[in-house]
Amino acid sequence: MRSPPKRIYNSASVSEEDCVFCKIVAGRLPSHKVYEDAKHVAFLDINPFSEGHTLVCPKRHGETLWDMDEREIAEVFRVASKVSMGVVAATNADGFRIMQNNGEAANQAVPHLHVHVIPSKLEDKGRFTRIKLDEGQMARVAGAIAAEIARQADP
Ligand code: AMP
Ligand code: ZN
Repeated sequence: MRSPPKRIYNSASVSEEDCVFCKIVAGRLPSHKVYEDAKHVAFLDINPFSEGHTLVCPKRHGETLWDMDEREIAEVFRVASKVSMGVVAATNADGFRIMQNNGEAANQAVPHLHVHVIPSKLEDKGRFTRIKLDEGQMARVAGAIAAEIARQADP
């Protein structure tokens, strides 16, 4: 059996210095943050599939799942699960998708590992296309999600 390649091809590969999500982690780029702990940050996707579409990132730069160790992989999905509860409650959603793309062939556009948490409503009937929200809507939903996550952590 062939051993797997150590790297997954992504023409978007960049250094940490030029990485959009490292810039968000460092506060060098603005974001609508909904959650942060010592090792992770979660913020709204700027081009969302639904209101409340959130990205969960480890703060440490790693491009794909294969650049993280097992503990980091477990932790980022644990945080995504926790964030999903705040996202669903804040948006009155009926369910959510988890998406995590690795490499150009899988449509990975930002080469810093992230887990998408995408809430969906029954009335959306499975719709999976980008929507446009203005800054006010983004700020409002981010505030509602952050408040839900905080409330669920400390009821
Ligand atoms: P992926 O295709 O899994 O790499 O997803 C990257 C996601 O990051 C896309 O859904 C983009 O809309 C989103 N994105 C790109 N730049 C930013 C940014 N500065 N802030 C928030 N989301 C972003
Ligand atoms: Zn990065």
